[in-house]
Amino acid sequence: MPKINNELCMGCGKCLEICGFDAIDMVGGKAKGNKKCIACRMCAGHCPVGAITVKEIPDHQGAVEKWIHAYAKKHGFAVKEESVGRVAQGLLMNLKKHGAMYCPCRIVTGKKDIDEKSVCPCAYHKKEIEEDGECHCMLFTKYLCIDDPYDT
Ligand code: SF4
Ligand code: SF4
Repeated sequence: MPKINNELCMGCGKCLEICGFDAIDMVGGKAKGNKKCIACRMCAGHCPVGAITVKEIPDHQGAVEKWIHAYAKKHGFAVKEESVGRVAQGLLMNLKKHGAMYCPCRIVTGKKDIDEKSVCPCAYHKKEIEEDGECHCMLFTKYLCIDDPYDT
């Protein structure tokens, strides 16, 4: 489960929004991880105060791919299956190279205020899905016309 530094956490709720697995609860105004966590690490990059650490697991890409489906389901998007592996690989490459899971379809500029908006799920995806039918990475789409293999 994610380790959340209680002293740093300011209870903004961002990590709860990002997690597709309900693996974080809000207890007394502070985030608290639970055992549903699959260690995808998607929440950690979005904490504004760096309060979250998540253990490394061997199949990180598999966990990110599961998160893609869970996040889409939680927010009412569909997933373009042919993009899943490419995007997950790109996210892990950016984590290794740049220290965060920046969107692989955008340029990492080195400017914090710009780059933080590109951490997946990026600040732009909801508007793009709404206006263009899919996000810039062609990962999340508006139309529920694609089979989700994780939907049981
Ligand atoms: S994103 Fe960070 S500060 Fe916000 S609730 Fe989660 S742990 Fe706390
Ligand atoms: S690491 Fe992934 S599954 Fe675990 S709490 Fe964060 S977003 Fe949820």
